[in-house]
Amino acid sequence: MTIGVWILGDQLWEQQAALQSVAQKENLPVIFIESLQHIQVRPYHQQKLVLVWSAMRHFAEELRQKQYLVTYKISDDFATPLQAWVQEYQITELRLMMPSDRPFIEVIHSLELSCKITLIPNNHFLWSTEEFNHWAKNRKRLLMEDFYREGRRRWQILMAQNKPIGGKWNLDKENRQPPKGKLNTPPAQWFVADKITLDVIAKVKSLSIATYGDLETFRWGVTRQQALQVLDWFIQHRLSDFGPYQDAMVTGEQTMWHAMLSPYLNLGLLQPLEVIQAVEQAYQQHQLPLNSVEGFIRQVLGWREYMHGVYHYVDAAYPDKNWFNHTQALPEFFWTGKTQMNCLHQVLTQVQHSGYAHHIQRLMVLSNFALIAGLLPQAVENWFHAAFIDAYDWVMQTNVIGMGLFADGGVLASKPYAASANYINKMSDYCKGCEYNYKERVGKNACPFNFFYWNFLDQHRDKLQTQGRMSFILKNLDKMSPEELQSIRKQAHIWHTDNS
Ligand code: FAD
Ligand code: SF4
Repeated sequence: MTIGVWILGDQLWEQQAALQSVAQKENLPVIFIESLQHIQVRPYHQQKLVLVWSAMRHFAEELRQKQYLVTYKISDDFATPLQAWVQEYQITELRLMMPSDRPFIEVIHSLELSCKITLIPNNHFLWSTEEFNHWAKNRKRLLMEDFYREGRRRWQILMAQNKPIGGKWNLDKENRQPPKGKLNTPPAQWFVADKITLDVIAKVKSLSIATYGDLETFRWGVTRQQALQVLDWFIQHRLSDFGPYQDAMVTGEQTMWHAMLSPYLNLGLLQPLEVIQAVEQAYQQHQLPLNSVEGFIRQVLGWREYMHGVYHYVDAAYPDKNWFNHTQALPEFFWTGKTQMNCLHQVLTQVQHSGYAHHIQRLMVLSNFALIAGLLPQAVENWFHAAFIDAYDWVMQTNVIGMGLFADGGVLASKPYAASANYINKMSDYCKGCEYNYKERVGKNACPFNFFYWNFLDQHRDKLQTQGRMSFILKNLDKMSPEELQSIRKQAHIWHTDNS
């Protein structure tokens, strides 16, 4: 019997389950495949292609040094190189770690190979799918906060005698400071491209398929060692102030105090537990502020695991959900960044340059606009999936369809994240440099976030009334004069006609 292991582009860790399942590593046949068909589903960010392919090539090289028998193929499809490799090495059992993305599991089931295929349970998350399903079943609501507390107990993170350190589970209230005055933000940890990465950049430049974004500014890390450097940099220079300005947005400040770890975690270059434990250890050694440390740990131990768990828990129709029946097409400016709405212009241009935006830019600028303007959820999901450096199906569906657009009707968010210009003006400096007036709801200078926000509440009043947390906001809608409401509806309608 000969076992061979197929390593997918987001499984780049030597302890990943499929590699771990084989005792004899020396001369173990392993295969990596860069497929061109696979990247034509949508116009991916060029930097995402470079990141994944360069990280795969680096990891393949690392395994070669360790005496694995590495085959690295560039091909249109997956089946052709797999079949040839199975024959060449007389492989009788192909093992691979269960993919994180459901569509890829379908790809594997559709393969016709002359050997047995064994899927080994994925070990890139703290919670296995079975454990999450067990936690979730029979619950009325899948509350992230309950899940997070369970994670803290299970892995004994920031705990003292089974109670949360500091007495509170969640210090989020301390982490919503608006940006005021000059903020002394720390620089980010970037890298210079090496020969392998330069080769991949040349390949991506030469592709004759549709892509998105700029390539010139590629500065991401592509190895586990570099990913560990980013973690270390975050802990040394960013973690202590991560909390207070977590939700703030400032022109020209792309990353603030954020960790920039999602690209590496999602490729398997870093593991969630090592990140959490390194942060907890720094807290203990250097007495860092608890609101920052807890705030960060909640993201990785809470939100990230929860999003992955929910993704595999919900049924296969989840990606098609459209609770509000929104149908507007995605405006062209999402691809070009050319819009007079300064907040959107700033964030979209930043995404073009780096493939990155921090959480509040994604949630309260990009997906908030898509939600209140009534854009088709699947078009928005497709855009996010194409544009972001850290996007994969498992993290897209729950974050965009669920959290951002509430298209699942509240499976995971307790209310829609819909906001007017007031929020953006409070949490950023974008409105200062904008042609629109953040205070106006109708008229030539009115901010589109305002008329869309009120139009959204008006259009979906019946549905929103069923969401307890919306009743206070709907009362404000009731105070609006019928004339103003009529003008708002008209302006929202005209905007779509002008931008279609
Ligand atoms: P930090 O703010 O420093 O957070 C630390 C870590 O927590 C992140 O690295 C990430 O691994 C994890 N995390 C926090 N929140 C989430 C979450 N909701 N889902 C998953 N992980 C989380 N995250 C992605 O990894 N890929 C995506 O494509 C993605 N798209 C998003 C789209 C929308 C509309 C929204 C609302 C959120 C999205 N997120 C996505 C979650 C989150 O915004 C990013 O993980 C985070 O901004 C990554 O930057 P960072 O590493 O600097 O994060
Ligand atoms: Fe964005 Fe409106 Fe503020 Fe302009 S005024 S930056 S469009 S929220």
